[in-house]
Amino acid sequence: MSGSRVALLPGDGIGPEVIDAAVVVCDSFCPGDYQFETHLFGGCSIDASGTAMTDETLEACRAADAVLLGAVGGPKWDTTDADAPRPEQGLLGLRKGLGLFANLRPVRAIAALVDASPLRPERIEGTNLLVVRELTGGIYFGEKKRTELMASDLCEYSVEEVERIARVAFSASRGKVSSIDKANVLETSRLWREVVTRVHAEEFPQVELEHVLVDNAAMQLVSTPGQFDVILAENLFGDILSDEAAMITGSIGMLPSASIGNPDGPGLFEPVHGSAPDIAGQGIANPLAMILSLAMMMRHGFGREEQALAVESAVDQALAGGLRTADLGGSATTDEATAAVLAHLK
Ligand code: NAD
Repeated sequence: MSGSRVALLPGDGIGPEVIDAAVVVCDSFCPGDYQFETHLFGGCSIDASGTAMTDETLEACRAADAVLLGAVGGPKWDTTDADAPRPEQGLLGLRKGLGLFANLRPVRAIAALVDASPLRPERIEGTNLLVVRELTGGIYFGEKKRTELMASDLCEYSVEEVERIARVAFSASRGKVSSIDKANVLETSRLWREVVTRVHAEEFPQVELEHVLVDNAAMQLVSTPGQFDVILAENLFGDILSDEAAMITGSIGMLPSASIGNPDGPGLFEPVHGSAPDIAGQGIANPLAMILSLAMMMRHGFGREEQALAVESAVDQALAGGLRTADLGGSATTDEATAAVLAHLK
């Protein structure tokens, strides 16, 4: 396959800075393999057209073979006015609009970075886990109500929604799935636990399954993260636990993600971090999460495993060679970090 079409959504803050780095890596490492087309998305789209994602942008993403996203948001668009457009609406709308119900977030302890982690090296050594987060259901999408005196957010899950995300988790597992819930309190969690147990018994009996309450999982993640293989979680729990897991790597600037689920449409590949308004425009953002998201696009979006491995290995080698951006305690700029990765790709 050549000339695969990739819709680029740089977004806001450091989004455009890190997405530039991914394009530079791509154009230099595998020129011609990917064609990029850029679209406004997030806060900059609100400024231009009053909405975080126009219908044209959604259509362009649907027509592409993959979507690469930087990050959206920033203080300029922060508001408590429920009727005002918000950059995050673009994210939720894009995931829903592309039918992407599964978010994959790999977290591994990179040898060169064990000292950058707030956790002790002996705790994080050997950590290589994958958070599989349900992305289009649960409390983020349930009915919202607001009066002057109260507010409510409805959390709903259907059997089918749980079945399909459970299958993604069991398929990705190398031996064990830890399914996260709050079954001692929540009805949605009791359904979640029953359905995951059934899918396991009927379709994946060779995989070990454990059920972990979300509060316990939060503790286990920082005390013994090496015990986890695949962590399967609903939308809200997965959102929180994956950011907690991010700290194992030493910086949120290191974590990539893939959103998949629609066999007939493109996947969405983006770093876990946000638009980092506090460092935007300074040229010091860590581009590695974005570059590793590019590797996930090569693997999950196009089945180009060799390309993905080459990019991931170049990132590891650059770090082993001493590359450290500010978030990792060093002084390398975004451009220098990109150049360091490229030096190991050639
Ligand atoms: P954030 O991830 O943007 O930043 C948290 C901290 O991590 C900041 O100190 C930031 O400087 C640092 N950081 C993040 N990415 C980095 C990188 N690549 N290199 C170096 N340092 C990095 O989270 P936040 O501050 O909570 O949110 C800022 C804005 O981003 C908000 O508007 C929020 O809504 C939005 N956001 C967007 C996404 C997304 O687009 N997917 C995700 C999370 C937050």
